[in-house]
Amino acid sequence: MALGSNLDGREEHLRRAVQDIAKLDGVSGLVCSSLYETAPMGPQDQPDYLNAVCRFDYTGTARVLMGQLQAIEREHGRQAGGRRWGERPLDLDIALFGEQIINEPGLIVPHAGLAERSFVLWPLAELDEALRVPDKAGGAVAIRELQEQCQRFGIQQLAGGPLGHE
Ligand code: ADP
Ligand code: MG
Repeated sequence: MALGSNLDGREEHLRRAVQDIAKLDGVSGLVCSSLYETAPMGPQDQPDYLNAVCRFDYTGTARVLMGQLQAIEREHGRQAGGRRWGERPLDLDIALFGEQIINEPGLIVPHAGLAERSFVLWPLAELDEALRVPDKAGGAVAIRELQEQCQRFGIQQLAGGPLGHE
């Protein structure tokens, strides 16, 4: 799953969120990428983003996980509404859920913006450079191939190593 923040102590939001996620019911074996910084993809009059991804084993469904992640977003002061791609203290997205393809109201997996988001592709590749992303045709695309097609938004990997782990 993918984490992002561009408000009010970005790094602290992400670090706390990782701890919150590791404690969720059904989550085990959590591993995190480094932090990455990118320019915003929507409105340009907002601060740069910090992003990371984490991977974990999960015993529940994607729908249940989504509810758990939205509760964490709210605890971090995320307000409903706000402008599209606007600033937020914490954004938690399900980038991938194993090999599953999900197309339901309010839940699309792999995340609909995955191929356009350097700040998700680069940290995913850090965790698994051989990762393959499932597509609707029943096939899969190599993460490297997606990276080659993707605009970088000035992405920079920050020093300091993985954001956190169990
Ligand atoms: P974004 O993450 O694209 O910047 P938001 O965080 O505002 O946008 O999310 C908008 C909606 O996206 C949420 O209400 C959620 O229901 C929906 N959504 C669909 N698929 C996913 C997913 N895989 N992960 C997170 N949110 C998703
Ligand atoms: Mg989101």
